[in-house]
Amino acid sequence: GASRARGNLFQPNFEFKNMGIGGLDKEFMTILRRAFVTRMASPRDIERLGISHVKGMLLYGPPGTGKTLIARQIGKMLNAVEPKIVNGPEMLSKFVGASEENIRKLFKDAEDEYRAKGDDSNLHIIIFDELDAVFKQRGSRGDGTGVGDNVVNQLLSKMDGVNQLNNILVIGMTNRKDLIDSALMRPGRFEIQLEIPLPDQDGRKQIFVIHTQKMRDEHLVAPDVNLDELAAMTKNYSGAEIAGVVRAASQTGLTRKTDSEKGGNVVYDDKKQLVITRADFLNAL
Ligand code: ATP
Repeated sequence: GASRARGNLFQPNFEFKNMGIGGLDKEFMTILRRAFVTRMASPRDIERLGISHVKGMLLYGPPGTGKTLIARQIGKMLNAVEPKIVNGPEMLSKFVGASEENIRKLFKDAEDEYRAKGDDSNLHIIIFDELDAVFKQRGSRGDGTGVGDNVVNQLLSKMDGVNQLNNILVIGMTNRKDLIDSALMRPGRFEIQLEIPLPDQDGRKQIFVIHTQKMRDEHLVAPDVNLDELAAMTKNYSGAEIAGVVRAASQTGLTRKTDSEKGGNVVYDDKKQLVITRADFLNAL
């Protein structure tokens, strides 16, 4: 058994846009493949090289660019068990001590399994949303509680401590990479850092294509709607904002399908045609 196939990350024709995520280029795939190649390589080769797996990865960039979607998709591509998602501020808002307990709990499944089986056959992914909320306060917090530092130390000891786990991957997400202590980005910690920027025009087109897929399949989009035009008109929009535009345009079209008031009630008229027009999209913008 020379190689261990892990999910579809290494299929040559894999594309994020086919998984409902637009705007990521080939280079992004290249970086991901290189980062996770140890997880599909022969254990013997890894041993001979004397290297370990990547344990942490940081996804950073503006809000609404799909970081959560991407983190989940990476989990699927690596055949990981269902990821645990935690929110940085929530983690800190608990009482002193309790948040460290929460970190311990997060890693418990992975630890138990690692002890029992002694291998890394099941990858456990922990997704840390708003990571900066935890890490920016390290050493610089004025409240004197030390909660943040303890949480950080707990997390780091799980990632690079004495009892090294080989079956975990921590994916951190932030809109403010500048606030994150650079000590956290050294090898063995969040050593892979990938920027998820606002989509360019091609990316925006892909995202419009993805989010109008269903209504186009159902022939609910008027012929005057041009996705290239919409992509050109939405400079600086995030993926989440594009999804919002599609939703707002749909709501306008749906509203048209409701009849005028009849005796004080708004009536839904199923005989009226449901169609989303260019005007609905422009209105949404
Ligand atoms: P935040 O930093 O605010 O947490 P995020 O970067 O994690 O945001 P998501 O929560 O993944 O963003 O995105 C929100 C929603 O916006 C997604 O569920 C999806 O509907 C849409 N979306 C965002 N980016 C993309 C994209 N690149 N392709 C397709 N849809 C996208």
